Amino acid sequence: MQEGTKARAMLLVEPRHFSDTTVSAPGVEEGGWLAVEATGISGSDVQVWKGEARDAVYPLVPGHEVVGRIAVKGPNVPFEVGTRVVVEPRIRCGTCRRCQQDLATCVSRKPSNSYGLIPSTVPPGLWGGLAEYLYLDPRANMHPVTDDVPAEVATFVHPLASGHTWAVELPALREGEGVLILGPGPRGLACLIAAKAAGAGWVGMTGLSHDRDRLDLASQLGADLTIDVEQADVAGEIANSLGRRPDVVIDVTSDDPEAVFTALDLVRSGGRVTLASTKGNRAFHFLSDVIVAKQLTLRGAVGASGVGYQWATEQLGLDPRIDDLVSHQFPLTEASRALQAAAGLLGREELISVAVTF
Ligand SMILES: [Zn+2]
Repeated sequence: MQEGTKARAMLLVEPRHFSDTTVSAPGVEEGGWLAVEATGISGSDVQVWKGEARDAVYPLVPGHEVVGRIAVKGPNVPFEVGTRVVVEPRIRCGTCRRCQQDLATCVSRKPSNSYGLIPSTVPPGLWGGLAEYLYLDPRANMHPVTDDVPAEVATFVHPLASGHTWAVELPALREGEGVLILGPGPRGLACLIAAKAAGAGWVGMTGLSHDRDRLDLASQLGADLTIDVEQADVAGEIANSLGRRPDVVIDVTSDDPEAVFTALDLVRSGGRVTLASTKGNRAFHFLSDVIVAKQLTLRGAVGASGVGYQWATEQLGLDPRIDDLVSHQFPLTEASRALQAAAGLLGREELISVAVTF
């Protein structure tokens, strides 16, 4: 890669409006450049595309579930040129108060220090996975991944890492425990894989009627119970299947405030709840007494930890079932269709997760 190499980039100039542009990639002193191979499209990318993300300032290049190869390496990039890596979405400066408290939301850049959310007006402009090259910030965390799987499959490392963080690490999941996952999207399925791998004794998953194919896949991945919440009595089905209340409930629904109440209602007394889904910045009526009476532990979760990434990159080479989790692929020029597909606007039949490939 030469200094001044042109990179094709899909710039989101305002909600739902991509501009197919070419950006010059300047030389770098400290960071580096990643030649993007594939980028997964997540629910939070859909929120950015729709204009519903709190931190989004346009124009920006969306996409934070990036897989690629090191193209240019400054002194802070610990891998050789040509190494295939996943890049953690969240950049941590290491010195701001949030970073020192080990929180995911570094405040050294406003409004966000996360790939896919940093405006393209911040040099060198290429901060998202929907472009041929991604700037590797000197503080970016990268993890090498196997060359033995297609790039679009490797994008699933990102949800898988979150699944491990949210279902295993944050609730300190113990062997034999019962885990209920609300929402069968890519991150819900990843929570299922991670919880089962960690020895969960029972895993249930809920979804809507249009999630039928995702719930079927959950069964194939080892879910002990899948529930269509529009058709069945959730509490009754769990009682029949598990015989008690789940120890851990994880909310990974898409923008569903009701899921918070469901989680607090269904978890056992003394149980743990991970809330990993935002609700579009909306306020809603909230009865907090149940948290007190049931002595619950609630944990808000943003993104995956480094431990989650290490686990997920290892799993990628070990678990062939991950191949089935990326159902839709689009070329970069069809970024709009990729976002529509991930939003469920092109139909939900056979929709598991979406990637843009290069
Ligand atoms: Zn920081």
